[in-house]
Amino acid sequence: HLSARLLAVAKYVPLGARLADIGSDHAYLPAYLGLNNKISYAVAGEVVEGPYLNAVHEIKKEGLADIVKVRLADGLAAITAKDEIDVITICGMGGPLIYQILNADLRKLKQYPKLILQPNVGEQQVRTWLTEHNYQITTEKIIEEDQHIYEIIVAERQKKVSALTDDDYLFGPFLRKEKSPVFIKKWQREQEKLKHVLGEISKARQVPYTQKALLENKIKKIGGVLNG
Ligand code: SAM
Repeated sequence: HLSARLLAVAKYVPLGARLADIGSDHAYLPAYLGLNNKISYAVAGEVVEGPYLNAVHEIKKEGLADIVKVRLADGLAAITAKDEIDVITICGMGGPLIYQILNADLRKLKQYPKLILQPNVGEQQVRTWLTEHNYQITTEKIIEEDQHIYEIIVAERQKKVSALTDDDYLFGPFLRKEKSPVFIKKWQREQEKLKHVLGEISKARQVPYTQKALLENKIKKIGGVLNG
């Protein structure tokens, strides 16, 4: 059985896709999709040997070795043009790492695969990379599982993408409009955290002006979206 988080990701993988799941760990996502006949082919990429061996084991156990190829490789080095990948999933990592993986090997994106990304933190960096590389965000989803809140960002390459505002980058162009209960919870939590930090640093004798101003600014920004 798949976590609610990865199940939500799985829903955005088009039927019959040729998938690359980068940082696959146990390869639960490609295994689930393979077992349910949702994909025609997949590469499960892992850079660390332990998780790589977990993935090899899982795919063998499920009898999926014909359609899911497990590869020990850093990021997009796991795939070649011959794989004809049309969807890439990168899930359960920080936004900066996702940014780094996408940016490290742009040639691997020449066939413009659909991207389904699930950053744990730093969603802003992910949206920035997408926009800078002509990927239009087409869907966003926010979910809660076991006290953790996760965002899923789906994007497709386009000739020209519509510009995002500062609020779009930070909160998500769709999420901030939808303003679901989970979204509100996330940003209320974040605002509380920042207010606490602000309170703490204000107690110090010397507070760098810019640090305080940045915090106040972000708290205000969050307030604007929550109350707007
Ligand atoms: N994608 C799975 C999920 O969402 O449940 C696993 C997430 S796990 C927290 C992150 C995985 O990414 C780890 O197994 C780690 O070894 C792998 N990873 C980190 N950097 C990587 C890279 N540059 N290339 C491939 N895998 C990477």
